[in-house]
Amino acid sequence: MALIVQKYGGSSVADAASVQRVAARVVATKQAGNDVCVVVSAMGDTTDELIDLATQITADPPRREMDILLTAGERISMSLLAMAIDALGVEARSFTGQQAGVITDAAYGRARIIDVTPSRISETLAEGHVAIVAGFQGVNTEANDVTTLGRGGSDTTAVALAAALGADVCEIFSDVDGVFTADPRIVPAARKLAKISYDAVLEIAASGAKVLIPRCVEYARRFDVPVHVRSSFSQMDGTMVTKEDPMEEPIIAGVAHDSSQAKVTLLDVPDVPGKAARIFEVVAEAGVNIDMIVQNVSATGTGKTDVSFTLPAVNGTEATSALEQVHAEIGYSRIQYDDSIGKLSLVGAGMKSHPGVSARLFGALSDAGINIEMISTSEIRLSVVTRAQDLAAAVRAVHTAFDLDSDQDEAVVYGGTGR
Ligand code: ASP
Ligand code: MG
Repeated sequence: MALIVQKYGGSSVADAASVQRVAARVVATKQAGNDVCVVVSAMGDTTDELIDLATQITADPPRREMDILLTAGERISMSLLAMAIDALGVEARSFTGQQAGVITDAAYGRARIIDVTPSRISETLAEGHVAIVAGFQGVNTEANDVTTLGRGGSDTTAVALAAALGADVCEIFSDVDGVFTADPRIVPAARKLAKISYDAVLEIAASGAKVLIPRCVEYARRFDVPVHVRSSFSQMDGTMVTKEDPMEEPIIAGVAHDSSQAKVTLLDVPDVPGKAARIFEVVAEAGVNIDMIVQNVSATGTGKTDVSFTLPAVNGTEATSALEQVHAEIGYSRIQYDDSIGKLSLVGAGMKSHPGVSARLFGALSDAGINIEMISTSEIRLSVVTRAQDLAAAVRAVHTAFDLDSDQDEAVVYGGTGR
């Protein structure tokens, strides 16, 4: 007998029939002799619909109210799932994040979990019932206000509960069969990975893949929670995410892509100490997270250089208007903003000990006639920026060049969103 935390994403509980299908799966897990705690996301696109509704009321909804609004989505799915399980003859109780003891800081909309005290969940499991918890939400005990953990936060709820309950495994169910060597939506020959390390999947998640959110993986790594990423639409084993096993780590785990980024370039920045510090101070004060940075050597004799960086396109206006306000102080000539870029990232824990990976990557792109605009690296990741319209072809070319293509049709996409 095991203690299993299962998390079902929005596309797995999109309508009443899906909720009943998930209920049957939960009941089967329970009847196989396991204790089961289930974490659910809001049904289908509920969260987006609630956000749309709020912005129809006001362009700038108060963040506290926004969090109260959004937590409603998960309350709907958790209670319906409890009813569906009950209808199958198994007792189930649903709990809000607050009732489940998910304690967070006070950062509305992107709260961090600071503690989990799941006594009501443990009691429910001890009584032999299924416990269901609303994902993506918690409570800030100082203000006694509900908070949300940021988009996709139900994964984090599931892993945090699994850690606090000492679960044997945290199963994350979505509409893909696991972690693939690339997004099956653009690389039909993508292969499912049987296992992957926290570090590699963290780089993949941080590089734009939607399969797991970075915070959830960080949490799992910190508390050593084994995570099984799998599909609720099939019975197949998915991908096990665990600690790195140096003997088994492949050189390349996969190719991730991200088309949600934009590039800002400041032209003719005076090439003197302190300018970069000031630029990125201003951007940070605007609350914008940047990703890649490139600064050229100044063209001979000009004493000026261009500085480019990438950021989430949704933060484009914040960053550029903050920089416009310090135009005179920084002394650049012009700002260029470009949101037609794509980012490709090649990830693999074995990369650090294998030379030639970058040459092969650049060679594959050059053979495909794709221009590289920016490059950045970490110990286990190589990322390049291309034109947005080249991104899919770039991912396919690199996937093939690193022999990642599968000869079978493995990649089935069951839903629409990757969640
Ligand atoms: N419902 C929330 C969202 O759509 C949380 C989640 O799905 O994990 O972002
Ligand atoms: Mg969702």
